[in-house]
Amino acid sequence: MLYCTRCRMLFDGNTCPECSSLGRNPAPGDFCLLTQQPGIFARMLLDVLEQNGIEAVSQATQGATGIFSNMNMEIHKIYVPLERFKQAEELRDELFSPESVAEDGDDGGTEENEEEEEP
Ligand SMILES: [Zn+2]
Repeated sequence: MLYCTRCRMLFDGNTCPECSSLGRNPAPGDFCLLTQQPGIFARMLLDVLEQNGIEAVSQATQGATGIFSNMNMEIHKIYVPLERFKQAEELRDELFSPESVAEDGDDGGTEENEEEEEP
């Protein structure tokens, strides 16, 4: 596992999948990209992280890429310190697991086919 100082993210392999720069070994205190979420979900996650004593920082971005590129909304990138990354991942997965998302996922507004994009 290496760390890209430009993208502030952990990755497997020799070069960063985002910017192709060479990584270095992650060091304590490195902020690592945990996830990208629309504003409301970002705030939910930040709350959960805070409740668990994890110091997270978020950065708002417009014109997101990937699965958010067709959504006209602000996306927040959330970073957590390396030493809390694994715990933060678990909290993220808990918060955004399919079961918890499905519970109140029906907002009644979207009848169009939703395409699933798998990486
Ligand atoms: Zn990078």
